[in-house]
Amino acid sequence: MQENTQTLDSPIQDEEPFRAAVLNFLEGNCERVNESESSLEDDPERVKECRNFQKELFNAGLAALPYSKEYGGAGLTKKHQELFDEIARDWRLPNGPLYISHGMCLPMLDQYGTDEQKNTFMKECISGEKIWCQLFSEPGAGSDVASLSTRASRDGDEWVISGQKVWTSGAHYADLGMVIARTDPSLPKHKGLSMFIIDFSDPSVEVKPLKQISGGSGFNEVFFNETRVPSSQLLGDLNQGWNLAVSMLMFERVSIGAGGGSLTADRSPTLIELAKALDKNTDPHIRQILSNLWIREKIRRFIGQRVRDSVAAGRVPGPEGSIAKLNGSLLARLFRDASMEIIGTSGQAWEIGDEEAEKWSVGCLAASGVSIAGGTDEVQRNIIGERVLALPKEPDPYKGASWDSVPRN
Ligand SMILES: Cc1cc2nc3c(=O)[nH]c(=O)nc-3n(C[C@H](O)[C@H](O)[C@H](O)COP(=O)(O)OP(=O)(O)OC[C@H]3O[C@@H](n4cnc5c(N)ncnc54)[C@H](O)[C@@H]3O)c2cc1C
Repeated sequence: MQENTQTLDSPIQDEEPFRAAVLNFLEGNCERVNESESSLEDDPERVKECRNFQKELFNAGLAALPYSKEYGGAGLTKKHQELFDEIARDWRLPNGPLYISHGMCLPMLDQYGTDEQKNTFMKECISGEKIWCQLFSEPGAGSDVASLSTRASRDGDEWVISGQKVWTSGAHYADLGMVIARTDPSLPKHKGLSMFIIDFSDPSVEVKPLKQISGGSGFNEVFFNETRVPSSQLLGDLNQGWNLAVSMLMFERVSIGAGGGSLTADRSPTLIELAKALDKNTDPHIRQILSNLWIREKIRRFIGQRVRDSVAAGRVPGPEGSIAKLNGSLLARLFRDASMEIIGTSGQAWEIGDEEAEKWSVGCLAASGVSIAGGTDEVQRNIIGERVLALPKEPDPYKGASWDSVPRN
């Protein structure tokens, strides 16, 4: 991201007026966080609410704070973003459906987009007018995403994309997607990949929602049936897609484990309130569970701070992104177990239509997904083992072999 170091003309650049502007906006547009939320992002009303919220944020000059004004950002600094995140932690921002759009696709556009791509796509992404999704995983390529099979073949000034993606969060409401596809099968698996921007209004893009155990349909299968993409929508350089994918995964891990706002908000206060309401706050066992959760949430803040400081210092987040992500998924499971312990049998059975009771069970079922999305806990442990502890790499008998010579299902 281009850091804004020049003197800014915005009246809210100083800390106090900025804080006041953020608080004023949150008070007028959001509710204070006082309860756990379910995340059924397939709810069209929630997506609509998100788009409206983001438009208001954008109009207030508070969207995409550190991004250049030229491309629709607020032209402020990463410090402003930190302050915003700190204040926003106590509020429910209805922007869940933008988590991939803004947490991953926007920094990718900013870092790798051409001027033309930035001019065409960034402002609408920032204002929430267009929502983006990320298409990496395939039925035969998840943890080992570099082995993917979706093909992109050149035809004149266009690329023709054919193949299937899976687990694509938000594809059912997304307007655009960042897709990684194989552009040269004769190169080793990490080398013949490229990233493309695909418009989901193209009828050759077929989206089929998947039903989850929690009842929602947050992710999808996506089929590209000879989808034609202009060569101007190649993101980054040809056959350099793996480098882009690694960057995007880092943005994802940082978002999940160390992002600001409600995604990484402390949730122990919600459970403390629940324990009080159910008269369980004096139970020594429950108190122990709650203090464990509270302490680990404080530790998460420190880990998150370390990652954000590293990003603010201009470094690309390295394995600390994996530490933050792994910690985030451990916390999600801790919260799940603590909530079930407190809510008791009401977490397993409730009257139909009792949304207040249902949300605890939905949250419980959804918690495991955090350990899978953005790379599983095992994959994060591999990265930490290799890059922090300097343990030997996993052996790969096909290292250096061309992708098309490696056997696969
Ligand atoms: C909530 C959610 C949202 C998602 N959103 C998206 C999205 O928007 N876009 C997208 O592209 N994908 C998305 N995914 C997919 C996700 O990235 C993959 O599910 C994940 O990378 C794992 O791949 P897989 O499911 O194919 O499992 P596999 O890779 O088949 O892994 C199966 C098991 O083997 C273990 N394993 C695999 N390799 C190793 C290894 N080398 N060492 C040790 N253990 C290993 C794994 O940890 C896992 O337990 C999402 C997933 C979830 C749960």
